[in-house]
Amino acid sequence: MALAFDEFGRPFIILKEQEQKTRIRGLDAQKANIAAGKAVARILRTSLGPKGMDKMLQSPDGDVTITNDGATILEQMDVDNQIAKLMVELSRSQDYEIGDGTTGVVVLAGSLLEQAEKLLERGIHPIRIAEGYELASRIAVEHLEHIAQKFEFGPSNIEPLVQTCMTTLSSKIVNRCKRDMAEIAVKAVLAVADLERKDVNLDLIKVEGKVGGKLEDTELVYGIIVDKDMSHPQMPKRIEDAKIAILTCPFEPPKPKTKHKVDIDTVEKFQTLRQQEQKYFDDMVQKCKDVGATLVICQWGFDDEANHLLMHRNLPAVRWVGGVELELIAIATGGRIVPRFQELTPDKLGKAGLVREKSFGTTKDRMLYIEHCANSKAVTVFIRGGNKMMIEETKRSIHDALCVARNLIRNNSIVYGGGSAEIACSIAVEAAADRYPGVEQYAIRGFADALDSIPMALAENSGLQPIETLSAVKSEQIKENNPFCGIDCNDVGTNDMRKQYVFETLIGKQQQILLATQVVKMILKIDDVISPSEY
Ligand code: ADP
Ligand code: MG
Repeated sequence: MALAFDEFGRPFIILKEQEQKTRIRGLDAQKANIAAGKAVARILRTSLGPKGMDKMLQSPDGDVTITNDGATILEQMDVDNQIAKLMVELSRSQDYEIGDGTTGVVVLAGSLLEQAEKLLERGIHPIRIAEGYELASRIAVEHLEHIAQKFEFGPSNIEPLVQTCMTTLSSKIVNRCKRDMAEIAVKAVLAVADLERKDVNLDLIKVEGKVGGKLEDTELVYGIIVDKDMSHPQMPKRIEDAKIAILTCPFEPPKPKTKHKVDIDTVEKFQTLRQQEQKYFDDMVQKCKDVGATLVICQWGFDDEANHLLMHRNLPAVRWVGGVELELIAIATGGRIVPRFQELTPDKLGKAGLVREKSFGTTKDRMLYIEHCANSKAVTVFIRGGNKMMIEETKRSIHDALCVARNLIRNNSIVYGGGSAEIACSIAVEAAADRYPGVEQYAIRGFADALDSIPMALAENSGLQPIETLSAVKSEQIKENNPFCGIDCNDVGTNDMRKQYVFETLIGKQQQILLATQVVKMILKIDDVISPSEY
C-alpha cells in the first residue's frame, strides 16, 4: 500500500495487487469489526459465573481441553479475524495483569460494542462514542473505590483471603472442594509472600499434577516434588536432615569408549579390570560419604552394578533427574550443582529437612518429596485427579486463585461480586450522564447499559429471568442504597453478596473496566480495513 498525490495535490492510496485485496471503510468497517468482537464475546458469555458452562476444545493433534477459563478458551480457539484477535489479546492481558476475570472482561467488551453499534446507528460519531466511554469508565472506576472495602488479614486470620479465593473457584470444575483448594492457594501464597514489602513471587509456587487419586487428595507440599524414585527399591524411603550431592557428572567408572581399545586375553586381566572399575566406583562412593552426603541426586544414570554397590554402601541415590528439576533442587536446598566429581566439597551439598519417597496407587508410581529445604520458601501444589483434563483445568483454577490471593496481599481492597459492583457502577454512571450536555451523554448511558450485561449474563447462566432479576436487584440497590446487592446465582435466598461472601478484588474489577474500554475504543477508531481477499 502506498500513499500518492494526484496533480491537484489530493492524496490517494495505491493498493498493490488491487484485485486481490478487499477493503471496507467507514461505517461498514466499524460495523464489521463490531460484529467480529461481539461474536467472540458471545462464545464466552455462557461461561461466566458460578453456573457458567465449560467449553471443550480440541486441538489439531486431537488433544482435548475442557475449561471454564476465558483466557484459555480464547487461546485455544483458532481465531482468524484480526478484531477477534484483539479480544483474545484483551483476555490475555487481564490474565497477565490480574489472573482472574478473563471471561468477564470479554463479556463486558462485547456488550460495550453492542451498545456502540446502537449509538452508531443513531448517527453518533465513533469518536464521540469513544470519548463518552472514556469518561464513563473513569466514573465507574472511581465509583468502585467508593464501594470498595478493606479488610485486615494476617497469618492467623486468613479467612477473608480464603473467601475471596473461593469466589474465584466457585465457577470452576473444582467447585466441589473449593474450600480445600482455596485454603491450599492461600497457604501457598502466604508461604512465599513477603508481607512487609507486600510482594509475592509466584515463581516460587510450583503447580504439579499427577493423574490418579481424587481431587480431595490435592496437597500443599512445603518443598519440591520430583517425578523420580530412589534408584534401588531397598534404599531407605525416608531420609531426615538430608545432605544432598547434586551431580551432573557420570556417577560410575569411566567406560571404555568405542574409539579406545582394550585387549583382554586372560581371565586375570579381566579380573583386574573389573576390580579396578569396582575400586574406582568405591572411591567415588567413599568420596561422597567423606564430604558428608547422605543422598546423591544425579543427572546421569548408573548401571545395575553401581546401583547395587550404592545400596551396599548405604548411599541412597536418585538417577536420571532432568536439568530443570536439578536446578530447582539446587536453588531450593542451597546446594551447588557439581559438574566434576573432583570438585565435590561439603559446602556444595544441599540441605533438606526431609526427603521421602511416596508411592501412589497400585502401580510402581513413585514421587520424591524434598521438604523443609534450607534455602528457599518454595512450595508445590500437588494436584491429583481422575484424568489429565481435570488436572489441567485444576491447574488453571489454582492459578486464578493464587493470583487473586497475591493481588489481595498487594492491595487488600475488595468489592462484592455477583454483578453487584457492576450494577452499582451502572447506577452511578447513569446518574452522571445527566451532567454532560453534549452527545457524550448517550455514550455514557450506553456504557451504563453495557455494565448491566454482566449481572444479566450471570442471571441467564443460572437459569433466572435475566431482565426481571436485574431490575429487581437494581431497584433494591437504589431503594436501600445498598451497593452489595447482586445476583443470587446459587439460589441461597439472599441477594446481599456480603452475606454470601462473594468477594472480588478491587484492582481486578477496575482492570476489567479499563481494559475493556481501551479495546472498544480502539476498535471504534478503525474506519478502514484492508485485507487480502479470500481465495
Ligand atoms: P472470570 O473468568 O471473569 O473470573 P468466572 O466464570 O470466574 O469468570 O465468573 C466470575 C463472575 O461470577 C464474577 O462476576 C463473580 O462475581 C461471579 N460469582 C462468582 N461466585 C458467585 C456466587 N457464588 N454468586 C454470585 N456470583 C458469583
Ligand atoms: Mg473467575
